[in-house]
Amino acid sequence: MTAQVVGSDSWFWKSLLSWRAVISMGLCKLIKSGTNTRVWYDPWIPLQDGTVDNILKIQLLDSSREDRWVWTLSTSRDFSVKIAYHVLNSSAAVPSNSAPLVGNQWNQIWKMDIHARLQLLLWKVAWNILPTRDRLSSVLHMLEDQQSCPLCNGGSESIIHLMIGCLVSFLVWSTSRWHLNSLNFVSRGVVGWVKIILNPQLIGISKEDCHEFCLLAMVSLDSIWRYRNDVIHGMPVRAWRLPRFEASLFLVHWVPPPPISIKVNFDTAMGHEVTSAVAIARSSSGEIVFASVCTSARVDATVGEATALRLGVQRCLELQVHDVEFEGDALIVVNAVARPELVSNWAIENLIEDTRIKLNGIQNGVL
Ligand SMILES: [Zn+2]
Repeated sequence: MTAQVVGSDSWFWKSLLSWRAVISMGLCKLIKSGTNTRVWYDPWIPLQDGTVDNILKIQLLDSSREDRWVWTLSTSRDFSVKIAYHVLNSSAAVPSNSAPLVGNQWNQIWKMDIHARLQLLLWKVAWNILPTRDRLSSVLHMLEDQQSCPLCNGGSESIIHLMIGCLVSFLVWSTSRWHLNSLNFVSRGVVGWVKIILNPQLIGISKEDCHEFCLLAMVSLDSIWRYRNDVIHGMPVRAWRLPRFEASLFLVHWVPPPPISIKVNFDTAMGHEVTSAVAIARSSSGEIVFASVCTSARVDATVGEATALRLGVQRCLELQVHDVEFEGDALIVVNAVARPELVSNWAIENLIEDTRIKLNGIQNGVL
């Protein structure tokens, strides 16, 4: 199952290897004595909630009985082309057509200096086998609103959304020491983000910071996943404690507003297909007052910036906050609101006009 295809391989061997993805969907090690199964590498037990119970249920036989491979999608335990055909036809059940990572990258997961539970979580993420709502909707009939993220309601709940696209994870990353706009990486997909976790230097993280980056990625995903499960299962949940801004980390990047004021930073993130407008309000001590994200089909960057500013202004109006500073790096948008005669871009004209009207409704709202 780990053999690599090389150019000189025969047609038969290449065809055989191309079936690995299908075979791996039902492949499982049947434990007899437990002596010839690689715990971390071989699939030997369904990796789901209740895994510990499942492990304890295995009856170990004497050491002369070797563990053997079985194919769990067939009652005969043997691989069957007929069943494989049916499995492939119900494409919803196919987690992936091929292994998402190569051998060396899988090894990297198990060598990571993090808790084994987090290693296992990352392994599941790489295979995209966590039961997120988008995965469930491919096998169950679910209405559109039942597929949305239970934490932010901001789109279909996929694993990439939970890891970096959700408002909650966005806040984790934007308030981290790297001030990362995680929305910029959503278009790389699950595997792209897993590769970044395995090698943060891919996005310019320094070698010294790699471990901390990886730890933050895994701990935030683990926390979000557990928090999300509590919400879904109606468990009493503690409020998600948004990371508090450490003033020392923001001396360069973020200047707090005067006491009793709040500062709203607005920005936009451009994906291949979508644009996200983001507005985050913080108090003078750095506490997050609110954070809003609005995702739409891809638009021009200036339109995205104008949308983000309007989002922040609108939210302030709704919350009836006053003494607000709005800060963004889109000078064209800021100038357009401040000086109507300078609006030269028709694409943002209506947004700017609406923003200006709303801004007038905020007591001491300044740009
Ligand atoms: Zn979300």
